[in-house]
Amino acid sequence: MPTTCVANVNWASNVTYGATRIHRPRTLDQVRRTVGRSERIRALGSGHSFSLVADTTGELMRLDGLPRTVRIDPARSTVTLSAGLRYAELAGILHRAGYALANLASLPHISVAGSCATGTHGSGDTQRCLAASVAGLRLVGPEGDLTELRRDTDPHTFAGSVVALGALGIVTELTLDIEPAYEMTQRVRVAVPLDEVADRPDAVFGAAYSVSVFTDWRSGTAQVWLKARTDDGSGAGAVTGWNGGRAAARPVHPVPGMPPEFSTEQLGTAGPWYARLPHFRPELTPGAGEELQSEYFLPRDAAPAAFAAIRALAGRVAPVLHIAEVRTVRADDLWLSPAYGRDTVTFHFTWIKELPAVLPVISAVEEALMPLGARPHWAKLTTVPASRVVPLYERSPEFEQLLRKYDPAGKFRNAFVDSLFPTG
Ligand SMILES: Cc1cc2nc3c(=O)[nH]c(=O)nc-3n(C[C@H](O)[C@H](O)[C@H](O)COP(=O)(O)OP(=O)(O)OC[C@H]3O[C@@H](n4cnc5c(N)ncnc54)[C@H](O)[C@@H]3O)c2cc1C
Repeated sequence: MPTTCVANVNWASNVTYGATRIHRPRTLDQVRRTVGRSERIRALGSGHSFSLVADTTGELMRLDGLPRTVRIDPARSTVTLSAGLRYAELAGILHRAGYALANLASLPHISVAGSCATGTHGSGDTQRCLAASVAGLRLVGPEGDLTELRRDTDPHTFAGSVVALGALGIVTELTLDIEPAYEMTQRVRVAVPLDEVADRPDAVFGAAYSVSVFTDWRSGTAQVWLKARTDDGSGAGAVTGWNGGRAAARPVHPVPGMPPEFSTEQLGTAGPWYARLPHFRPELTPGAGEELQSEYFLPRDAAPAAFAAIRALAGRVAPVLHIAEVRTVRADDLWLSPAYGRDTVTFHFTWIKELPAVLPVISAVEEALMPLGARPHWAKLTTVPASRVVPLYERSPEFEQLLRKYDPAGKFRNAFVDSLFPTG
């Protein structure tokens, strides 16, 4: 029988799930039977979302009780994994077998399925969001039926089925693109003038395979984390053509004053891709989060205007901020991906965990960024109403058709999905 799981809050404990029950099935058959019997159910990943995207008043189902399977197909350069896996687990297995993923988010402890469902991203001018590497999905549909979707054989609807907010069914397996394992270095520049990043984003974000800019918006300076591959000739995070402050003399944490032990290795020591791409070490599991997050995806050429707009709000932002991060994401073709159709710059905010103080500031940031074309991160906090979000996605009407096709009775819907795509 499916077991019930007790954790009914998300990682940051700002969401208490309204679910009547949280299932943790051990077999695919149990998944299918439980879904078939349920009136309303949706998948829960590792619970790292700050928004209500995973919440439901029906039932939830975690997939991390299923047998953990990882099958590498060297001929196709893909890996097929059970949906409950987190990137940290998958990365170690892939690396030992001589393979790698192209990109990772800042934290490797998030589940693969949940991350792909929400358009989660890392950074890199050439790097798309993590869902863009999905080549196949196996879904349990409303009757407990199984559907296999593949990028190569379902070209018309696949792009709508990956970033799907959990609304098309329970993903039990994913197939991802892989490549040969590679090594990376990570170097941090400190005291980089924020003007420099705002005025020369192409130089700064083009300086390495993956670049993250951290700032408090008030100091006028930034930390720039340069993650370079050792095999692609992109240099070791070259600082040419821009004022790169100075090299950090010792390891740092993204949040000034926090201990660097949780950060992935820096100072230019080469190491495996999965131990450099995230900011936080895969082997150290962070506890519950003392933070809230919001984030916005903007067209890349809006970067200078967005920097100016947020800097104008620095006096309000900085007092309620742990740290902010700016990254770049390459355009993709996934209908609900916040990087759909446009090369993107993302503005992320890690806020203090005091919602009443933070919400008005989020709202002010949104007033400044929405006119520049911002799309809020599906998994993070926003005050932008659904009616303003949906028109930002030109393929929304086709996604609504997919919803009707895969889930005609709305078994996998929740209030979050209903607000975006009302039934009837
Ligand atoms: C500390 C921290 C750091 C983060 N860093 C980044 C970052 O660098 N970049 C970024 O973009 N985001 C980042 N995030 C946000 C995070 O990536 C998203 O919240 C992501 O959704 C987390 O995956 P999850 O499994 O925890 O999702 P959950 O919150 O568990 O679920 C999210 C959605 O996925 C759906 N889902 C989950 N599993 C399945 C499944 N098997 N089948 C169908 N649907 C499913 C759920 O129904 C829900 O709608 C961060 C969050 C935290 C807390």
